[in-house]
Amino acid sequence: EPALSIRGLTKVYANGFQALKGIDLDVQQGDFFALLGPNGAGKSTTLGVVCSLVQKTAGSVSIFGIDIDKDFAKAKYQLGVVPQEFNFNQFEKVLDIVLAQAGYYGMSTREALPRAQQLLTDLGLWEKRDGNARMLSGGMKRRLMIARALMHRPRLLILDEPTAGVDIELRRSMWEYMRRINQDEGTTIILTTHYLEEAESLCRNVAIINDGDIVRNTSVRQLLAEL
Ligand code: ADP
Ligand code: ADP
Repeated sequence: EPALSIRGLTKVYANGFQALKGIDLDVQQGDFFALLGPNGAGKSTTLGVVCSLVQKTAGSVSIFGIDIDKDFAKAKYQLGVVPQEFNFNQFEKVLDIVLAQAGYYGMSTREALPRAQQLLTDLGLWEKRDGNARMLSGGMKRRLMIARALMHRPRLLILDEPTAGVDIELRRSMWEYMRRINQDEGTTIILTTHYLEEAESLCRNVAIINDGDIVRNTSVRQLLAEL
C-alpha cells in the first residue's frame, strides 16, 4: 500500500475560496517526493489536511492504508510533520521540546533521552539543549523542528517548505540530512517547495500543483528531460 493516498481532495475555506479542486495523489513507501508549485497553489492546504490541521471539504486521505477519518489517532503515529511556521513558548528549552513530543507519542523517558541525544547531535543542536528555543537562529529552529518530528520514528516525514529563507550552506546540510534518513532509514519523505532546484536535487518523484489542481505527476528525471 502507498505511504500516502489522496482521492478527490477538495477544500473550500470559510470565505468561499476553493483552495483544492479534487486532487488525487499517491506517494509510494520509501519515496522522496516533492509537491512543487508557486505560492498560493494549495501545497500547505494539502499537507494541512493530511496532518488533520485543516478540515477537508470532500475526498479521502489514507496514511499507510489507514483512513484519517476513521482512525487519525492511529495514522498520526506513522507521521512526522515539520510545519513551515512555529512558535515556541517563551521558556521552552530545546531538549524539553523534543522530550515533550516523545511523551505525547507515549515514549518512555528511558527510550526518549537517547533518541533525543542522537537526533540533536546529528542536527548540531546537542550543545544548545539547555538553551531557550526562542533564542535559536532561524536555521537552528528549523533543525529543532526536524528533530522533534523524528522523535517517535515516523515512517512518513512531511516537511512544508523546509528550506525557505535558509542560507545556501544550511540548505545543503539539511538536504544531506534528509537524504540520509530517506536512504538509510527508509523513511518516506514528502516536502513542499517552490524551488525546482530543491526537487531536482533531492526528490525522485514530483507532483506539480497549480491553482488547487495537480497538473503533472511524474518522476523528477522525466520532468527535467522535458525542460
Ligand atoms: P477553515 O475553513 O479550515 O476552518 P478558516 O477559513 O476558518 O479555515 O480560516 C482559518 C484562519 O485563516 C482564519 O483566521 C482566517 O482569517 C485565516 N485566513 C483567511 N484567509 C487566509 C488566506 N488567504 N491565507 C491564509 N490564512 C487566511
Ligand atoms: P501554498 O502552500 O501552495 O502557498 P496554500 O495552501 O497556503 O498555498 O494556499 C492556497 C490558497 O488558499 C491561497 O490562495 C491562500 O490564500 C488560500 N488560503 C489559505 N488559507 C486560507 C484560509 N484560512 N482562508 C481562506 N483562504 C485561504
